[in-house]
Amino acid sequence: MKLKNEREKIVFEIKRMQEMGLVINTSGNISIKKDELIAISPSGVSYDNLKSKDIVVLDKDKKIIEGDLLPSSETNLHISIYDKYSDVSAIVHTHSLYATSVSTLLEELPAIHYQIADLGGPIKVAPYETFGTEALAIEVEKNLKGRKAVLMKNHGAVTVGSDIEKSASRAILLEWLCSLYLLSKNSGNPAIIDDKEIENVKRQMGNFKNLRNSFLN
Ligand code: 13P
Ligand code: ZN
Repeated sequence: MKLKNEREKIVFEIKRMQEMGLVINTSGNISIKKDELIAISPSGVSYDNLKSKDIVVLDKDKKIIEGDLLPSSETNLHISIYDKYSDVSAIVHTHSLYATSVSTLLEELPAIHYQIADLGGPIKVAPYETFGTEALAIEVEKNLKGRKAVLMKNHGAVTVGSDIEKSASRAILLEWLCSLYLLSKNSGNPAIIDDKEIENVKRQMGNFKNLRNSFLN
């Protein structure tokens, strides 16, 4: 079986997202890129009994290399992100509640908590386009520039990373940041962290990552 490990990771993360309430029914999709191939969740299949054999393996031209099911309807979106951003190896798309709510209200999620630095800074809301279209893929890819997350207007969220663990933890972080924004906005006018301070936070995150690694060595 091709990309066995990656297929297992996709099943694991989909179930984890489901348990956390970030995906419901068959909403959302996950993919991992490895050795010029892409493993992606199938379209419209219940996650309850999802097995690694149900994950579809494609090449860059969307040709099915292994798998009996139709690949996700958002395959265009996943492939255009991989094409544009060579440092991305895993993508998580959800319709998580707070992120989707923010996508209907704002053009950009502002930095009201320093942890947004892990996503690159304030998060753009890509204009609405019909799900599964090339037009949506183009908007998402454009609005992801310089960031590790993007919101899709009246639709949901996309997070990316160099591995599936990072992409999934960013989906959880983005959902939390959106819930924090909505709660704060409901109670008043949340203070914004400026771009300069977000850059300081990124540096500090790097410093502590190095420190942690030196403790492990
Ligand atoms: P698929 O089941 O085809 O992956 O579609 C779910 C979705 O979220 C479409 O935007
Ligand atoms: Zn969707």
